[in-house]
Amino acid sequence: MRIVLLGPPGSGKGTQAALLKQRLQVPHISTGDLLRAAVKAGSPLGLKAKAAMDAGELVSDELVLGLIEERLGQPDISGGYILDGFPRNLVQAEALDQLLSRLGQPVDRALELTVDEEQIVQRLAKRAAEEGRSDDTEAVVRNRLSVYHQQTAPVTGYYGERGLLVEVNGIGDIETINQRLVDALD
Ligand code: AMP
Repeated sequence: MRIVLLGPPGSGKGTQAALLKQRLQVPHISTGDLLRAAVKAGSPLGLKAKAAMDAGELVSDELVLGLIEERLGQPDISGGYILDGFPRNLVQAEALDQLLSRLGQPVDRALELTVDEEQIVQRLAKRAAEEGRSDDTEAVVRNRLSVYHQQTAPVTGYYGERGLLVEVNGIGDIETINQRLVDALD
């Protein structure tokens, strides 16, 4: 099953995608993880992406689409996958559709984790303390949320119009939320 996991930063997408990966036995593809690995490795792509990431802005579509196209060209995705953090705007959503229709493998379901803003700010502050991510500082978090509202939120409408979207309550304990996501795949 080819799944797109949507939701604001701090909605638990990464945690839930990791659990779904185990349950469904399909790869978890996070553009944020791929970009962080590129930054850490100091690759040319990482060097280009770093400034935007540190500011909480989106990395250019060209870079991200190149990464995704390469990742979706690998053999381990034949049984499906979970996309986390991609698509992040309408250009990416349309490009993904085009790529997948070329492959004859359309998205099966888009799951949106819904969490209220107050919870998000609390969760991100906690993650900043635990993981020390350089883009979890308060100013950058605020910018990432504003980028989410302006550029990423319309992606839920994109999948909604195509009848692929299911909203899932992202508040509760991790296992309960995971079960809700699994139920939403039926
Ligand atoms: P994430 O781990 O998904 O929160 O992503 C961390 C950062 O990586 C974001 O704030 C963006 O700067 C960048 N990023 C991740 N995915 C994308 C994407 N699909 N398009 C553009 N930038 C992205």
